[in-house]
Amino acid sequence: MSDAYAPHYWVDAAAPQPGHALALGDGVHWLRMPMPLALDHINLWLLDDGDGWTAIDCGLATDAARAAWTQLAATRLPPRPLRRVLCTHMHPDHVGLADWLCAGHGAELLMTQGEYLSARLTAAGLAPTDPDSWLAHYRVHGASDDDLAQLSGRGNFYMRMVPSMPTRYRRIVHGQTLRLGRADWQVIGGGGHSPEHAALWCDAHGLLISGDMLLPRISTNVSVFPIEPDADPLGRYLDSLTRFEPLPADTRVLPSHGLPFVGVHGRVRQLREHHADRLGAVLQACAAQPLSARELVPVLFRRVLDVHQLSFALGEAIAHAHRLWHGGALERVGDGGAASVWRWRTRDASQGAARAAAGLDG
Ligand SMILES: [Zn+2]
Repeated sequence: MSDAYAPHYWVDAAAPQPGHALALGDGVHWLRMPMPLALDHINLWLLDDGDGWTAIDCGLATDAARAAWTQLAATRLPPRPLRRVLCTHMHPDHVGLADWLCAGHGAELLMTQGEYLSARLTAAGLAPTDPDSWLAHYRVHGASDDDLAQLSGRGNFYMRMVPSMPTRYRRIVHGQTLRLGRADWQVIGGGGHSPEHAALWCDAHGLLISGDMLLPRISTNVSVFPIEPDADPLGRYLDSLTRFEPLPADTRVLPSHGLPFVGVHGRVRQLREHHADRLGAVLQACAAQPLSARELVPVLFRRVLDVHQLSFALGEAIAHAHRLWHGGALERVGDGGAASVWRWRTRDASQGAARAAAGLDG
């Protein structure tokens, strides 16, 4: 990975405590909500609409996040109401409290259709978003009985963290301009991390609310889901990154995790190189013998993983194998039957194949 990139953090203050808002100028306020995970926080943004507020993302449905919002509603929001809640995507840290906030404040929910409908499906526990379908998906990708026992112990994390969803919403789409706060924001759609992620670009203020598509330190999770088992989400993610490349070099990025940063172009380049390196490692490993996604996890992740990280790591391993499979550099071995495990065998071990799969020249 390139060492040339280091994010430049442009906010000269510590992250706000839960229940507090840090004004960043231009009518934008930074909120943080705690999370009981290795990734221990999410950033939310509160936009001053003049006669009300728009919240960008919500936090998990935990008592701690509800308490933080209750404190904000008592201290920071009045006298103006929370009119709108815009969720960048369907993941539980982003939509968990959407229904609670919208119902409690009479606010409207804005989301893309792909994200809204996926959230409804998943919050209802409909197959194949349910734990049993996930376990079958992990099994066919080589998860051991021990892995499956750990993974099943989580139960339905999504339904716990997103206990309900608003039953109506206002659809937003890629390319649309929204008046939020004091300026116009353009929706930048993206895929690979979630079905139809919405980032928001404000030309007037040079601000990008990047959601989970661009984060300063961790790479965005890219996983294959049981509902679309042959998908190529890494291909979709890498394609989506091209939409951030035309943004000005001095764009101030507001990411969902980590600290606000400047350096879109360097970060996109670094992410492309990171995935090219990983694709190269997968190709090399699968040249020696066919390997399952589970067998690729230690190739891609050398650290000890907790159960949430194991599920992300398996998802990433499948996604990298699928990118190379869709690109023609790997072939899939197995019959996909109930007792069978998919394995991956290299057709072309050149690093050029990995760079081509990552969308880099060469
Ligand atoms: Zn996410």
